[in-house]
Amino acid sequence: SDVGSQKERVVTEEEWLQKWEMGNIGFHKEEGHPLLQKYLDVLLNGRSGLRIFFPLCGKAVEMKWLADMGHSVVGVEISEQAVKEFFSEHSLPYCEEPVPEISGAKMFQSTSGNISLYCCSIYDLSSSIVGKFDGVWDRGALVAVNPCDRQRYASLMISLVEKNSSYLLVTVSYDPNKHKGPPFYVPESEIKTLFG
Ligand code: SAH
Repeated sequence: SDVGSQKERVVTEEEWLQKWEMGNIGFHKEEGHPLLQKYLDVLLNGRSGLRIFFPLCGKAVEMKWLADMGHSVVGVEISEQAVKEFFSEHSLPYCEEPVPEISGAKMFQSTSGNISLYCCSIYDLSSSIVGKFDGVWDRGALVAVNPCDRQRYASLMISLVEKNSSYLLVTVSYDPNKHKGPPFYVPESEIKTLFG
């Protein structure tokens, strides 16, 4: 299919912050995603106490859900407002601390310790800072990444997962000539190229 009309489009970090400020966050859903419920077994693969990563996490309610199941959740999100809203909307006490390796970044951690949200760009992370993950929930993340950054994003994600990890990816199928995105249309063939 022709994705030419989206290839050059860029949404800046400033524009994302503005969406949060304006409450222009139609992507946020109060209900847990049905596909996570459906494929939870695939993500967990019989394992417990996993480290699960939420790239471009927003205030996704699934983070609370997986943490309540005994997993340890790490997210990254550039909007501090989103991160704070996550904790306050779930009445979770948290503390906040700088991330020495990343200038300007903060890490917000639930007092219980099982949810850690990095407030910075995902491109600032590396496995030496956040470690490696057993599972990934990628919803509204790859499809929100600017098309020109997809390769960089995929390489980074590959570097952040353990050998025996599961990666759940949600994409949106539609005619890219009819909507400028995000979410961007990422064809299946491109996903194969990006992730192998
Ligand atoms: N995954 C979430 C949010 C999807 S919207 C959900 O399912 O609800 C994409 C989110 O990515 C927005 O909250 C935006 O602020 C954030 N974001 C955009 N670029 C980012 C970047 N480079 N690093 C970290 N977060 C980013």
